[in-house]
Amino acid sequence: MLTQIPRKKDVHLHLFMKEIIAVQEDLKPEDRMVITMHQKPDPDAMGSALALYHYYKKLGNPVVVISPTNWADFLKWMPGVEEVVDFESSTSIAKEYLFDAQWIFCLDHNHFSRTRHMESILFSLNCKKVLIDHHREPDTASFDYGISDITKSSTAEMVYDYIVMTGKKGLIDTEIATCLYAGVMSDTGSFRFSSTTPSVHYMVAELLGYGIDHARIHSRILDNFQENRLRFIGHVLTHRLEVLYEYNTAIISIPKSDILRYHIKTGDTEGLVNYPLSIQGIEMAALLIDRDEERKWSFRSKETFDCNTFARKYFRGGGHYNASGGRSTDSLEENVNQFKKALKEFNALTINQK
Ligand code: 5GP
Ligand code: MN
Repeated sequence: MLTQIPRKKDVHLHLFMKEIIAVQEDLKPEDRMVITMHQKPDPDAMGSALALYHYYKKLGNPVVVISPTNWADFLKWMPGVEEVVDFESSTSIAKEYLFDAQWIFCLDHNHFSRTRHMESILFSLNCKKVLIDHHREPDTASFDYGISDITKSSTAEMVYDYIVMTGKKGLIDTEIATCLYAGVMSDTGSFRFSSTTPSVHYMVAELLGYGIDHARIHSRILDNFQENRLRFIGHVLTHRLEVLYEYNTAIISIPKSDILRYHIKTGDTEGLVNYPLSIQGIEMAALLIDRDEERKWSFRSKETFDCNTFARKYFRGGGHYNASGGRSTDSLEENVNQFKKALKEFNALTINQK
């Protein structure tokens, strides 16, 4: 099924297997484990972490999921989510688990900088660290065991492969299947992105066999907001969207005042960046949000715009080819100006390369 696992260079199926076998040999049933993911977890980060949590719980390991930050309301139905420790609101409990852990599994991110205030702790810990991720350019030096596969649709798909390859597929139950389905459906845009490979559909066919309610999972993630969020979207599409036709690009920049006026909370801006891509001819969409301590960027593209390189080069970020994010401490206006300058330069660079 798995053919390519590019890390620094292409690594193949046997290496994925080798990493899993190595973990399996070293990880004892009594070993204390922490599973973590990137800050502000999305359904893939939360779903893959919870699936792995249920799996290791079944195997008897003392295991806990720690999220670097809080998470959106539309994740609060997930099986096991009530057991997740929020590092920001329960810092001392989370630290106890972290300092006591013999293993840390890092899911859906490949650099500790994606874990906000947990970053320095993760760097300092001497326990064994395992990476399961599908983003580009992993910080391989930070991990003892590493699986980073950019050909994979989602971390959930990788956790499914992981479970299957450990030879314990029989442990998959409705709860695990539900968490995995939520992750893969979300990261593939409900199975429409080009990352939706045949292996995704094979896996989903299997997951449906565990009696999951897939229609309900879709609506719990996608149709689970308050009225204010819809009105907020109407407002920003009308007043905060700028279309740069000469660059086939659109940008939405949201000032703090909009966030406050519409009582926007974690998760309410999820998916907003995709709206401008529905405009004919628009190949890239950018969303800039004025958060408390920084300005947060999201980038999405339809086909040939390399969002990962763009975010890395100009906005201290990264991600995937067609979806990435970044951040900056400069003002909203400065960011918009920097974006326009960067876009011009980046387009010139890419055209020259062609
Ligand atoms: P989103 O726009 O949904 O926050 O993120 C899109 C993708 O880019 C996700 O896969 C996410 O993990 C990644 N990403 C978002 N923000 C950052 C960032 O600041 N740094 C890096 N390296 N990746 C990011
Ligand atoms: Mn993901």
